[in-house]
Amino acid sequence: MTTLIEPEEHQALRKAVAAFAKSHHDPATVWQEAAKLGYIGVNLPEAYGGGGGGITELSLVLEELGTAGNPLLMMIVSPAICGTVIARFGTEAQKREWLPALADGSRLMAFGITEPDAGSNSHRITTTARRDGADWLLTGRKVFVSGVDIADATLIVGRTEDARTGRLKPCLFIVPRDAPGFTRHRIDMELHSEEKQFELVLDDVRLPAEALVGDEDAGLLQLFAGLNPERIMTAAFAIGMGRHALARAVEYARERTVWKVPIGAHQAVAHPLAQAHIELELARLMMQKAAHLYDAGDDVGAGEAANMAKYAAGEACVKAVDQAVHTLGGNGLTREFGLARLITAARVARIAPVSREMILNYVSHQTLGLPKSY
Ligand SMILES: Cc1cc2nc3c(=O)[nH]c(=O)nc-3n(C[C@H](O)[C@H](O)[C@H](O)COP(=O)(O)OP(=O)(O)OC[C@H]3O[C@@H](n4cnc5c(N)ncnc54)[C@H](O)[C@@H]3O)c2cc1C
Repeated sequence: MTTLIEPEEHQALRKAVAAFAKSHHDPATVWQEAAKLGYIGVNLPEAYGGGGGGITELSLVLEELGTAGNPLLMMIVSPAICGTVIARFGTEAQKREWLPALADGSRLMAFGITEPDAGSNSHRITTTARRDGADWLLTGRKVFVSGVDIADATLIVGRTEDARTGRLKPCLFIVPRDAPGFTRHRIDMELHSEEKQFELVLDDVRLPAEALVGDEDAGLLQLFAGLNPERIMTAAFAIGMGRHALARAVEYARERTVWKVPIGAHQAVAHPLAQAHIELELARLMMQKAAHLYDAGDDVGAGEAANMAKYAAGEACVKAVDQAVHTLGGNGLTREFGLARLITAARVARIAPVSREMILNYVSHQTLGLPKSY
């Protein structure tokens, strides 16, 4: 069965990553070692030190790392969004500067689009870039941006003014971590995760012309080239976490005996676990479809599939984690078994990078042609 869906080389990559992840635990080490083995940059072009694969391979790597209990959130951002956008639209100099370093793990790039007053409505973002001679001056605020402290730079989504219409259009800038006027404040999240979230203030941050990624007039297209991989990778993150939780629960249900048989013999315990497994498998199929379409260059088809994959994976992950915690009874809430902390982590996949409701809106309007309510 799997052979038809997943070619042998992908199955081999899956096995290799799973074996690797079992023997490494500290997240920083996992990142460095995985990068050395070519896993982090597997989607980046070979000419710039990457593996020459696509989002299919990258999502598979993240899923397997997550399944082993090592969900590397920054993989969604650094190689998938930033790496993709730079590889597709960056200048030769930007590609040379960033891609080999993102691939070998020596540098990391964060991604900032969310704003406090825009939220899900990214058309409302107000971070604005003004020209000042050859330079740009960037001003605005961002919120919930992950990993800014460990990233060498952040790819910031801003707007420039259209010279003809005066309308603001999206554009992307590479902002170095220590740029004057660029400040960050950690947000106190109720999340057990290595990657921290930040509120960012950009106060007339002066950037050279070369900080702009891609064409000033094709910002939206370029942005979506990065947002579709982000959704596919969030699906991989969620499926990995769901599989991880489910495996812990199954292991426990096979052993734990409080009557005459292990608790897993009771259908009230077994069936929800079986359901969680089915839903994770279904979500993975949709993720594979989305990745396949994206890698084949079908940005429009990939957009719809990536949204659906992210939705399905987020829901499957939340349910799998919830059921896993419940299966362990009291132990589900102990630190020792490590499942309770996944309750909040799993919710991230339902909220970010685009919420469940915004995906349902997208499918209602774009796929089903129903009228828009907002
Ligand atoms: C752990 C974590 C990491 C993150 N990392 C990053 C990052 O690295 N970079 C980055 O830029 N952002 C990041 N984000 C931000 C994330 O993308 C946003 O939280 C998300 O886009 C939702 O925006 P919001 O929080 O402002 O919610 P809001 O937009 O305020 O939405 C609140 C609620 O209202 C619902 N809602 C809103 N509009 C509608 C509508 N029209 N119809 C129906 N329901 C609606 C939403 O579904 C949601 O349930 C991260 C968030 C988290 C939690």
